[in-house]
Amino acid sequence: MSLNECNYITQGNFYALNVTLLGKRILQHIGLNPGRLQIEFMSGGDGLLFAEVVDAFVKQVQALGPLGKGAEENIGSQALASRLSSVMKLVPYIKIAKREKLTARLTNEAAYEAHFTSEEIDSLFENVVSYYIEPSACKACMTCLRRCPVDAIDGRKNWIHVIDQEKCIKCGTCLEACPPLFSAVRKNF
Ligand code: SF4
Ligand code: SF4
Repeated sequence: MSLNECNYITQGNFYALNVTLLGKRILQHIGLNPGRLQIEFMSGGDGLLFAEVVDAFVKQVQALGPLGKGAEENIGSQALASRLSSVMKLVPYIKIAKREKLTARLTNEAAYEAHFTSEEIDSLFENVVSYYIEPSACKACMTCLRRCPVDAIDGRKNWIHVIDQEKCIKCGTCLEACPPLFSAVRKNF
């Protein structure tokens, strides 16, 4: 099945493929075998094909062994839990940082492997941005606090606001929301 056979205007097949390719590189970054993730495209009438594909994939994952102990993997369960938790927290940031590539329309299978590289994903995690509020510029208008999707900003009227770095998911909303007149939110690369 060709990816652009999808009849919906959003052409979600392309996005799903890109997310999967990115996910495979993230698995590698974590220390897991990318063969644990797979995407296949087929129509709703391909029941038999679907069963075959799922069966083959289950066998493939079973052959890899327990998570973290399979081929190309050697990671303890505590380290794995910690890495997974850090990556999950950064999902909104990753989606913003890789927005362009996630919306690309790949039509050539040969381009799949190179769409995201290991070096690129390692660098993405090594150079994670952070946001902070410059106290001398903050006018305590509460705009950023109201817009933050995870309540990571502490403050109230007439109190300088502060970003809780543990809660912050690096979405950048506060940077966009802070009125240009104040420009109190700063981004560290
Ligand atoms: S970047 Fe700003 S808006 Fe986004 S989670 Fe962090 S503090 Fe909240
Ligand atoms: S939007 Fe800007 S000025 Fe207003 S509270 Fe947030 S950081 Fe301070």
